[in-house]
Amino acid sequence: MKKIYDCVVIGAGVAGMTAAIYLKRANIDFILLEKGVPGGQINKSSNIENYPGFKKVDGPTLAFNIYEQIEKLGVDYKYGDVKEVRDSENYKVVCTDKEEFVTKTVIIATGRRPRELGLANEKKLLGSGISYCAYCDGMLYKNKDVIIIGGGNSALEEALYIADIANKVYIVHRSSEYRADQFLIDKVNKKENIIKYFNKEVIDILEQDDRFSGVKLNDESVINADGLFIYIGQIPETNFIDNIKTTEDGYIITDSHLKTSDDKIYACGDVLKKDLYQIATSIGEGALAASNIIKILK
Ligand code: NAP
Repeated sequence: MKKIYDCVVIGAGVAGMTAAIYLKRANIDFILLEKGVPGGQINKSSNIENYPGFKKVDGPTLAFNIYEQIEKLGVDYKYGDVKEVRDSENYKVVCTDKEEFVTKTVIIATGRRPRELGLANEKKLLGSGISYCAYCDGMLYKNKDVIIIGGGNSALEEALYIADIANKVYIVHRSSEYRADQFLIDKVNKKENIIKYFNKEVIDILEQDDRFSGVKLNDESVINADGLFIYIGQIPETNFIDNIKTTEDGYIITDSHLKTSDDKIYACGDVLKKDLYQIATSIGEGALAASNIIKILK
């Protein structure tokens, strides 16, 4: 007979790993599934300065610290790209691309992925001058010129990071003001090699010899550069869900206990519709979802 878990946690970002710490310490029999690297989106953050206890830390270091903590606790961690969560009698069956896990409860902590511009050749030039992670690829642009698209916290944080490596950084933003913390806006304003464009949209991605070479803006002007980093927000990873309530744009809706529209499925982290997307909020939600799952299991 197939093993029946108490819980399956889907996603090992900061929310999922926090849930795992709480479940393990309560002796719950569960497995943590992840399709990428532990830490998720925080691995793309070059500099975190608003997570208490760390004056300044890069995303991969914070992610690795949490991963080491779950490893030391002996959390059952496995690669798994979840394609479906379905009902089977009184249980849930979590189906990955390779196997199935039968469980009493599920915590969804799948987070978000970067939004794409949707322009022709964006996908083709990924890795050939286009990237969604300045922290991962920034060193390739030492003393070169790069363009960042977006006006949120991510765009500004990563513009600041890459401004210390690149020659010039052009930030192209479609609105008249940034949607970012004032602290970051002030820092960006002080950087001499950051050139700001407001009220401008990228309408074309230019290429030369199969590499990114620049962008055309909606006023027909062109910015030539060696690299393009796209930071225009994120979309929730909920493609595998079809039986719980979400917003129109795919975010999971929960009650204040983080219970979804299905009594046996809880959710936490950036996959939720919420007011504040921060490491601190995701960690709190991971703890809360796990505590409530522990209560219903016991
Ligand atoms: P975001 O806050 O949603 O900002 C996305 C930016 O991209 C906006 O400026 C938006 O412009 C622009 N945009 C959206 N679609 C576009 C398109 N098709 N073409 C051009 N521009 C487009 O996304 P984010 O910066 O990734 O941040 C996500 C969340 O994480 C936010 O809640 C953020 O505060 C949080 N976060 C926090 C920190 C921190 O606290 N240090 C760091 C990173 C992220 P408009 O303004 O015109 O809509």
